[in-house]
Amino acid sequence: MSLHPPSGLDTLAVGEEERGHRNPRRSPRTHEGGLPLLLQSIRSGSSGNCLLLENHETTLLIDAGFSSIRRCRAALEPLLPSVDGVLVSHLHSDHISYSTLRVLEEWGVPVWVCAGEEGTLRRKHFRGRPFDGLDLRTFTRRPVQIGSFTIQPFRVPHYPSYPTFGFDVASPHNGTTRRAVVASDLSDWMGQQSHFHNADVIYIEANHDPELLKLYWNPNSVYHLSNPSCAALLRHALDHSTTPPAAVMLGHLSDDRNSPELARDTVATALAEAGYAHVPIHVAPRDEPSNPLAIA
Ligand SMILES: [Zn+2]
Repeated sequence: MSLHPPSGLDTLAVGEEERGHRNPRRSPRTHEGGLPLLLQSIRSGSSGNCLLLENHETTLLIDAGFSSIRRCRAALEPLLPSVDGVLVSHLHSDHISYSTLRVLEEWGVPVWVCAGEEGTLRRKHFRGRPFDGLDLRTFTRRPVQIGSFTIQPFRVPHYPSYPTFGFDVASPHNGTTRRAVVASDLSDWMGQQSHFHNADVIYIEANHDPELLKLYWNPNSVYHLSNPSCAALLRHALDHSTTPPAAVMLGHLSDDRNSPELARDTVATALAEAGYAHVPIHVAPRDEPSNPLAIA
């Protein structure tokens, strides 16, 4: 069950049955064997991040940064009856928040954070209030199972005080596997490229344009991936893949130091120069759901 996007549905070599995911009253579990993997950004950027990954039996959220209980309910309530867990990349407030935790507690949705970060989560996001009903779980650097997804966390460089992770999410389908590789906040791609090899779909940060950053300086941009760095990472990943991904989605764009057109053009130009002009590039909107990408 994906959320209603503002326009249309991007299907990638899929049949009619995936179109049923536009109906928010329909459970994903009715798609027995029919959906290898679906990726949809619910929101993306410094005011909040939330990514939906789904197959025929599991619904997973990666991050859920909402600044109020009302906004969180409005965005997630159609999904929450089906959500099997929320995996938190790191503890910045645009990825997890008091408001989101309250809603997830209410719905009994397990929340996964990096082992050792439970105390920081309480101090930063509990506001000194009890969270007795919160189903808090931890992941390490070993693979974690959430429903039918097998997830390999990988540490990425970001803000020093908060350990930050990308995720390699494997979805089984008829004896094969589809892989979504996701990294939303990272300062540098060197050393990270191998995680993206042979991914079936990639969600990656394209935070800022270097020229706009000179005009509108923000010291925090150093913790995020620029458009050219994102393009270099993708080009490297595709150069080392036997099959290119069915799609790439760019996310966490800065409002003042980037635009969807700039991010897409920078990445598309770099990939076209390397012979990958056929790889579809999508850009996650800031405050509304993207079109869901159904990976066949
Ligand atoms: Zn962050």
